Amino acid sequence: MRILISEDDFTSRTLLQHFLSPYGDCDVTVNGLEAVEAFMLAMDEGQPYDLICLDIMMPELDGIKALKAIRDKEKSMGIGAKDEVKIVMTTALDSPKDVIEAYYRGGCTDYLTKPIDTQKLLALLKGYGLIKK
Ligand SMILES: [Mg+2]
Repeated sequence: MRILISEDDFTSRTLLQHFLSPYGDCDVTVNGLEAVEAFMLAMDEGQPYDLICLDIMMPELDGIKALKAIRDKEKSMGIGAKDEVKIVMTTALDSPKDVIEAYYRGGCTDYLTKPIDTQKLLALLKGYGLIKK
């Protein structure tokens, strides 16, 4: 599987990368702008990501805006809900406003608070059918 990790914090980014590497090829970006660029490039190359872990608080472009840009691109390409990339938002703040924004207006798949509980992330991947149970 192809995985994109977008996270500006070194420790969180490294943890995710080490945890997810055994399950697929991980690309790493450090801000929202790069995340959208990486997503577009993957689509253009016909090798879309299966999973994107997207931090909410990031420089250049925040995770919510990056999420919206990604979903807009998918819609413009006619990609339906069944085939869209799984996007897990990550954040240090358990902010109800961000949760609502991410789910209802942004269309994220799931939401995890940091520090990331890797067992919860693993359960999500199994739920998506990205890894075997
Ligand atoms: Mg951050």
